[in-house]
Amino acid sequence: LDYEKEKGWHSPRIAPYQPLTLDPSALVFHYGQSVFEGLKAYRTEDGRVLLFRPEKNVQRLNNTCKRMCIPPLDEELVLEGLQQLIEIEKDWVPDQEGTSLYIRPFIIATEPYLGVRPSNSYKFLIILSPVGAYYAGQLSPVKIYVENDYVRAIKGGVGHVKTSGNYAASLLAQKKAEELGYDQVLWLDGRERKYVEEVGSMNIFFKINGEVFTPKLNGSILSGITRDSVIELLKDWGVTVREERIAIEDIYTAYTKGELEEVFGTGTAAVISPVGELNWNNHKMIVNNFETGEFSLKLYHAITNIQYGKAHDKFGWTVEIK
Ligand code: PMP
Repeated sequence: LDYEKEKGWHSPRIAPYQPLTLDPSALVFHYGQSVFEGLKAYRTEDGRVLLFRPEKNVQRLNNTCKRMCIPPLDEELVLEGLQQLIEIEKDWVPDQEGTSLYIRPFIIATEPYLGVRPSNSYKFLIILSPVGAYYAGQLSPVKIYVENDYVRAIKGGVGHVKTSGNYAASLLAQKKAEELGYDQVLWLDGRERKYVEEVGSMNIFFKINGEVFTPKLNGSILSGITRDSVIELLKDWGVTVREERIAIEDIYTAYTKGELEEVFGTGTAAVISPVGELNWNNHKMIVNNFETGEFSLKLYHAITNIQYGKAHDKFGWTVEIK
């Protein structure tokens, strides 16, 4: 789709994957007016193709557009277009266990202009790529570095939406964590470095004394679709889920008392990623003996069974591509 101020969004089309031609002065190159989404199409054992809560991605895309001064999209139309695209490209949805077709919708500001202001023209593209299983075999716990110096987001900023600059700003901390032998960064709040926010491209959950805690959506955390699904599943199983402000110090205290039973991240890519170690200011917390916890495993299977059509979809989360 293209957008020009006079015409609105127009000219939907499907084309082979190819390079884009953009003016070197296109606003996206200079001021980062760029937004995106990520979702997957799954192949069931009997050959059908399912999307998982795609309407949530479309809603979130529009929320992001609003914050980034990009003209809103007709959500029904985008959802319909997405379904038609996947229908046409159905053969690209792989069928080996754990694989899927990754779908990356994104919008960039294309107007050539060197001053700072919202663009008057945009391109909305969707690229597709088959992806392998995130994990070879079972879920393996990751090591997480709690970042104290750099921050990802503050309230009033853009941390709660999916705009490219958030990810650019996180690269240096991610590099530092990797150099220290960690897989990912756990961000703290930007004001006090006291409260837990989220991990790289996942939301975070803590199981303490049988209850599950996750940071509440506070204006600087992304509203993850997997996060929302995990909360619904846990509640359905009768587990107490607390969406609260969580101080990292309280996590450490729970750990020292032997009450920190499980930690896991949630996101479209990994689904559920168990955390085996958290390092906060050189306090190393080894979680659940570096083993995949009971909730992590159960949630992983519950979600992937719905996504791959192996379990009854009682929440109505999947959309079948006809
Ligand atoms: N937080 C961030 C910063 C992310 O990029 C993602 C991935 N979209 C998530 C959380 C998880 O969101 P979802 O479950 O919708 O993939």
